[in-house]
Amino acid sequence: KNLKAEEIRQLYLDFFKEKGHDQEPSAPLVPFEDPSLLWINSGVATLKKYFDGRVIPKNPRIVNAQKSIRTNDIENVGVTARHHTFFEMLGNFSIGEYFKKEAIHWAWEFLTDPKWIGFDPELLSVTVHPEDEEAYGIWLNEVGVPAERIIRLEGNFWDIGEGPSGPNSEIFYDRGESYGNDLNDPELYPGGENDRYLEIWNLVFSQFNHNADHTYTPLPKQNIDTGMGLERMACVVQDVPTNFDTDLFMPIIRKTEEISGKQYGEDKDSDLAFKVIADHVRTVAFAIGDGALPSNEGRGYVLRRLLRRAVRYAKKLGIEKPFMFQLVPIVGDIMKAFYPEVNEKEDFIVRVMKLEEERFHETLNEGLAILSNVTDKQKAAGSNEIPGEEAFRLYDTYGFPIELTEEYAEEAGMTIDHPGFEQAMMAQRERARSARQNVNSMQTQSEVLGNIKEPSEFIGYTDTVAEANVLF
Ligand code: ATP
Ligand code: MG
Ligand code: MG
Ligand code: MG
Repeated sequence: KNLKAEEIRQLYLDFFKEKGHDQEPSAPLVPFEDPSLLWINSGVATLKKYFDGRVIPKNPRIVNAQKSIRTNDIENVGVTARHHTFFEMLGNFSIGEYFKKEAIHWAWEFLTDPKWIGFDPELLSVTVHPEDEEAYGIWLNEVGVPAERIIRLEGNFWDIGEGPSGPNSEIFYDRGESYGNDLNDPELYPGGENDRYLEIWNLVFSQFNHNADHTYTPLPKQNIDTGMGLERMACVVQDVPTNFDTDLFMPIIRKTEEISGKQYGEDKDSDLAFKVIADHVRTVAFAIGDGALPSNEGRGYVLRRLLRRAVRYAKKLGIEKPFMFQLVPIVGDIMKAFYPEVNEKEDFIVRVMKLEEERFHETLNEGLAILSNVTDKQKAAGSNEIPGEEAFRLYDTYGFPIELTEEYAEEAGMTIDHPGFEQAMMAQRERARSARQNVNSMQTQSEVLGNIKEPSEFIGYTDTVAEANVLF
């Protein structure tokens, strides 16, 4: 069955409505009354009020399609077939009502029944926590998944610190040998770091309370929290190599081809650039639409870094001027059936993005002027090395990542004093560290959260927790 992403989303919502769920709207990406979270990063993140009992839902069965941002996956974007900074999570939830049995049976029915998605059941495998005999038994004896395709994995425990926690079970689709067939690859299994066994759905069975003293006690009411990645489902259903080759991204890539004059699919490096741009423009467009603005701290800093990162990748495609703003209407069109906001706020988003791009290009140009001064001075002095402190100044003041300086240096026949750069970087960190001891913890926190290399504060689906082993 070849379904459009839009149709997959609708099928999911319809399926769970047929199973007695009420649909919750997709909430804005900027969390509401939740200072613990930088961005909404999963379907459950917007439903915390039900999970912690502050609000009792009319119906304990809930279904949603939730836009999410995860900056902790940024290095994977375009490198793996399956990671984005902005993606949609489809989820069904039980607030103290149905539990493992229903969650597992319904997941299987949705995926394999030809009336819904209709996957070949032989291509699906599942993982469970090693001590979750209950889930193992349901998959094996009730659903009929053969034992060799039920994998027990230590990491299958969901824990966010204090609060509800429990084992989880993930469902993987085998995309076949062309996506990996090396029997010696230790990562080639469902749950390993590979793009063959694609994780499409995570079912979390929250059945314990993680107490303040780090003991675990059974919850009086057990909850279900699941998350399925729409982009990954589209990738599998549309039978394309990566999420980026689906109808959710291709129109953005086509427009980028038009702007750059380069072709997607011809060269690995440019393909990475096409993918990073397509990913980041969705994130930035939706975040601005939901009220975030580029700035030097917190959320705004994340947006600034994402936009600049995309602009830097665009240079690899030969794009030297503001262009991302031109992709906004495309993003709006792709998403408008379910998320009209980008379309509705298009003028505003375009204006903010264009201004931010222009500003970055100015900074880049200033940086380049400095770099060429340094180059001239060094050459005049008979050296062809850029001093480490200068490379660091470009990084620190003008946002030049060292790779960028390196590229320009290379063009000018120069090299970079890398140890000197590292040293300057360390000295800066040391200065920041001692300065930090004098600021209050709120400031420190927003500084940490603003660093895109750090995972955003995470409330959904964290992985491995050693304590989990003592629970069952
Ligand atoms: P992975 O192991 O592939 O990084 P995950 O285990 O971190 O995924 P979960 O936290 O379990 O992901 O999220 C639930 C579902 O949301 C995943 O099964 C996947 O389909 C989707 N998903 C998670 N992270 C991303 C992402 N960065 N980009 C696209 N989809 C994602
Ligand atoms: Mg992940
Ligand atoms: Mg995973
Ligand atoms: Mg998972």
